[in-house]
Amino acid sequence: MPTNQWQIGDVKITRILEGESAGPMFLLPDATKENIQAMPWLQPHFADAEGNCIISIHALVLDTPTKTIVVDTCLGNDKERAIKSWGHLQTKFIEDITNAGYPPESIDMVLCTHLHTDHVGWNTKLVDGKWVPTFENAEYIFGQEEWKYTDEQRSNPMYNEFIEDSIQPVIDAGLVKFVDVNEQICDEVKLEPTPGHTPGHVSVRIESKGEKAVITGDFLHHPCQMEEPYWECSADWDTPMAQKTRVESLGRFADEELLVFGTHFATPSAGKVVRKGKHFQFEV
Ligand SMILES: [Zn+2]
Repeated sequence: MPTNQWQIGDVKITRILEGESAGPMFLLPDATKENIQAMPWLQPHFADAEGNCIISIHALVLDTPTKTIVVDTCLGNDKERAIKSWGHLQTKFIEDITNAGYPPESIDMVLCTHLHTDHVGWNTKLVDGKWVPTFENAEYIFGQEEWKYTDEQRSNPMYNEFIEDSIQPVIDAGLVKFVDVNEQICDEVKLEPTPGHTPGHVSVRIESKGEKAVITGDFLHHPCQMEEPYWECSADWDTPMAQKTRVESLGRFADEELLVFGTHFATPSAGKVVRKGKHFQFEV
């Protein structure tokens, strides 16, 4: 099996990488170079020897017996973004997902763990100056609570830009189903609430033939938060709630010994959460 593919019972999981880079972790003010170097277990996959964090933006395709599902749709091409390095991208994402065996028209469902700009981008693509759904045959699954909150943020330009070009067009096309945070998506895939980063944030559970995995979404951005789940993340909507979600979820993941896919974890992106005293680490 290629290094970007995993099998969980009857579900084949394929990672489609949009981008990966090393640098300071601005979202985590405590993740200084010194503090990251003090966690040597992060090297070589998630940090370099200088203490830079390596992070990734990728989508995961869940190929189940009944549905082909894309979880989180990265940044997308051609978008005008306040964060300049995230705007006007020209990546080969569509070519890559097609070459992996999943042309956009074959996708049955698109699922966003939460509605932030780096999770909704490929919901749409630019055609003749208009934003149209990239996955034209898919049902797009958004959390009801998540959308309610997001829709209320339109006066914030950093929200409005992606609502307008990556969310509203799929709503207008009639492709969206708003769901509860515990929604059963199909026999093998279920949402599980992990609030705090955003109000309606969810993780995604995959269970088949006794094998189990979970996709974190952004309740974790980097494995260093396993050792330090109380480090504040400047992008979290509710810090105490996010800290509680991290500690409780990491404990469960360690106890269940399931395969954990970090939505922004660098290659190889998946591994096991293990207890180290009062803390956790990530083993790949
Ligand atoms: Zn993100």
